[in-house]
Amino acid sequence: MITRTLGAVADMCGGELSPGSSPETRIGGVVTDSRKITPGCLFVPLSGDHFDGHDYAAGALESGAAATLWSAGKGPAPAGNAVVVGDTLAALQALAAAYLSEAAPRVVAVTGSNGKTTTKDMITALLETTFKVHKTQGNFNNHIGLPLTILSMPEDTDIAVLEMGMSARGEIALLSSIGRPDTAVITNIGESHLLQLGSRKEIARAKLEIVEGLRSGGLLICNGDEPLIAEVMQEPGFKAPEGMKIFRFGLEAGNDDYPIGIMNHPGGTTFTSSRHDGQVFTLPLPGRHNVVNCLAAMAVAEHYGVTGEKMAEGLAGLKLTGMRIELIQTKAGLTLLNDAYNASPTSMKAAIDVLQSMKSAGSKIAVLGDMLELGPDEAAFHAEVGSYLDASKVDRVFTYGPLSLHLADAARASFGPDRVHAYADKTELTAALLNTVGAKDIVLFKASRGMKLEETLQALRVRFD
Ligand code: ATP
Ligand code: MG
Repeated sequence: MITRTLGAVADMCGGELSPGSSPETRIGGVVTDSRKITPGCLFVPLSGDHFDGHDYAAGALESGAAATLWSAGKGPAPAGNAVVVGDTLAALQALAAAYLSEAAPRVVAVTGSNGKTTTKDMITALLETTFKVHKTQGNFNNHIGLPLTILSMPEDTDIAVLEMGMSARGEIALLSSIGRPDTAVITNIGESHLLQLGSRKEIARAKLEIVEGLRSGGLLICNGDEPLIAEVMQEPGFKAPEGMKIFRFGLEAGNDDYPIGIMNHPGGTTFTSSRHDGQVFTLPLPGRHNVVNCLAAMAVAEHYGVTGEKMAEGLAGLKLTGMRIELIQTKAGLTLLNDAYNASPTSMKAAIDVLQSMKSAGSKIAVLGDMLELGPDEAAFHAEVGSYLDASKVDRVFTYGPLSLHLADAARASFGPDRVHAYADKTELTAALLNTVGAKDIVLFKASRGMKLEETLQALRVRFD
């Protein structure tokens, strides 16, 4: 984590010390939540719609913070050490950018519609075989989470792996200007945030903002199966840094790396790739989409000189952030696929592929809930997923939520009326599943975060544990 004198902090974020502050005081670490003050930290008060962190600055100093940032517009700073700035959020971002540039690790930035966190975790697992790596914890990928990720980085880090998320144009450009990556990864272009952005092409433009902060001579690693990425790069307004190199990964032959011979097995997936002759990679995860994420991670690792052998070793130790197609085996034998963390049409189809490719001694059941924030075509997107389900590979479909009625209707065309059950009420859904599911079954759970489908999953888990 960052350790600096208060005088240096003021220089780094363009602020001034309040009268009476001591420039030689050392701060260690940065905290924005006044309930989580660590001794000697710098407290950064942020203002939101429903709170103002400045109200807690004096308390933070009393609880052991060495200093606080303070917005000039908020009146006199509290007694104690303070750095007065124009805007505390902008100062937090400037401090992070300055710290990153002083610590000077190499930087990998990861964006895309689906698979950012998964790919970030894979990149880290591969790089950690050879380097000291610092990565975004959990999903700290926005205008506040990214600076905090950077400021928590040990100063002797070799490579920082930073997840960059967005919900509107301009956000990735800002994050990339803070992170200044040497390597930028775009996992894919999906439909998340279609409501805010209007079209998939506009989503592609937003993701490609990542090259705005890419250093000259930097490497862009992108999904070669997605034509929109190439199209946007041809647009007159698109500006790539000087000497940018491009690496394309994907399922299609012709990419710089593509998988050969993907095999599913109970504990995960095995594959070889066009680029790593004969080397067998074993992912402790299901799904072709995870093989694609892994190819992106392998491209990063190769760029930093990690050998194929080391990569295979790194994958064995892969640790993922929870609720992303987590395979849960209950004591009574029931298999649960927990992908209830979030959903969009692309990731819904990926999860359905996983369920459909699995072998079951009992039934295969898909429990699918509403996908939110998809914009005016939301009904059609749900219907598309319903038609995507293969009635010869899935036994029953349960849906939850009003939008999922379109999914259920479309699924009935191939499943018939008796194998598709639509629910508006979660208690009824849970009761129906508890009545239907047997110990040999495999059950997939997938919906947008707001649907909280993990509550239903938990009920089954308890019953079969
Ligand atoms: P967020 O925007 O919430 O940060 P993310 O981009 O970090 O999401 P993950 O958390 O890695 O994505 O995965 C979210 C969901 O997307 C999971 O349900 C996962 O199964 C699915 N997913 C992951 N990678 C892909 C991919 N390459 N294509 C389609 N779906 C994917
Ligand atoms: Mg994420």
